[in-house]
Amino acid sequence: MRLENVGKRYGSVTAVEGLTFTVEPGERAVLLGPSGGGKTTTLRLIAGLESVDTGTVYLGGRPANDVDPGLRDIAMVFQNYALYPHMTVWENITFGLRMQRVPRTVIETRAREALRLLDLEGLEDRLPRALSGGQRQRVALARAIVKRAPIVLMDEPLSNLDARLRVKARSEIVRLQEKLRFTLVYVTHDQTEAMTIGTRIAVLAGGRLKQYGTPKDVYERPANLFVAGFIGTPPMNLIHARVEGETLRFEERPEVSVSLPTAIASALAERRGRSVVVGIRPERIQFAPFAGTEAALRDREPDGPWTVRIPVDLRFVEDVGRERYVYAAWGRTEVGGVVPAGGIEVTSRMLLMFSWRDVHFFDPKSGENLGLSWTGNVLQSV
Ligand code: ADP
Ligand code: MG
Repeated sequence: MRLENVGKRYGSVTAVEGLTFTVEPGERAVLLGPSGGGKTTTLRLIAGLESVDTGTVYLGGRPANDVDPGLRDIAMVFQNYALYPHMTVWENITFGLRMQRVPRTVIETRAREALRLLDLEGLEDRLPRALSGGQRQRVALARAIVKRAPIVLMDEPLSNLDARLRVKARSEIVRLQEKLRFTLVYVTHDQTEAMTIGTRIAVLAGGRLKQYGTPKDVYERPANLFVAGFIGTPPMNLIHARVEGETLRFEERPEVSVSLPTAIASALAERRGRSVVVGIRPERIQFAPFAGTEAALRDREPDGPWTVRIPVDLRFVEDVGRERYVYAAWGRTEVGGVVPAGGIEVTSRMLLMFSWRDVHFFDPKSGENLGLSWTGNVLQSV
């Protein structure tokens, strides 16, 4: 399945624009983004429920813009399930196949298998209103998989379930897909769901594709400030700083400047006198008791030039079971860290520490990742 430069407008609203991405057979592609980002529109364009204004939708390698939705061989699970309220579970699951005049024995076999896979056996004669939310959601999935369509689209199928059930249901969806091997395009605004379900994630906002990559890519190499801030809990710290020769001065804390390792200083040479955004994940920040004078800190041995140590005042600590979220004052804002619960003694003044190897640099205007990442001491372009 491939979208090439796909765009769709509703009157003056641009729902999606310039969308280009490919989903390989058997992949689980997740469309992730905030509400109004164009996710549902993209699914409807793939399904043919809406027609594209620009660009081309390819299905099975062939342009499908003019193919009727009924002939696209796609199954869709809608956000609200759209079960027929007056039909039993069995009738809901088999309705599409009966309409297509699939032989009775085939219908029976497929429906039995779907009931078994989705743990719905014994509920065949119930009406949707006599089912729990989780059961309704599974009926909607069962109805989609009996079609045996090579492509299955799901629009936030778990959003009506409570948090516990969502965790269970998302692993059921992955298992089902791994067993049946259909190509899945799955829509969610929940980044954890996206990371756990997707083999690839398309981050969509404002109708535009912000990044398309594996969960590891979008987490470890966010293409821009939007993705950096959207993926990760708590979110990546995005700190404005000025490049001053071979040092960085933090705009929110102008009294603090840190010297850059040579490799980074030369990579940023063109930006001297200008701003960059420094991105550092909370889980890459460590805290240590602050002892000694600030002058002593300037002597960076024995940590070497790759470690940054900055005194901070703690503002707030949240225990979330296994971990502890730590928030430190950073001028008018805060910097967040994640540490193991009980891992640190929380005193009000601490040393915030991180390695330059874990830092991302972004252009503050375009938001683009400057494409510098450090593995060991080797400067690499992403
Ligand atoms: P998402 O699913 O990511 O929340 P949508 O694809 O539903 O986003 O919507 C993208 C944009 O298109 C929004 O601004 C939405 O208001 C608009 N939109 C979607 N469907 C219609 C429609 N049928 N008529 C007018 N505007 C629409
Ligand atoms: Mg939607």
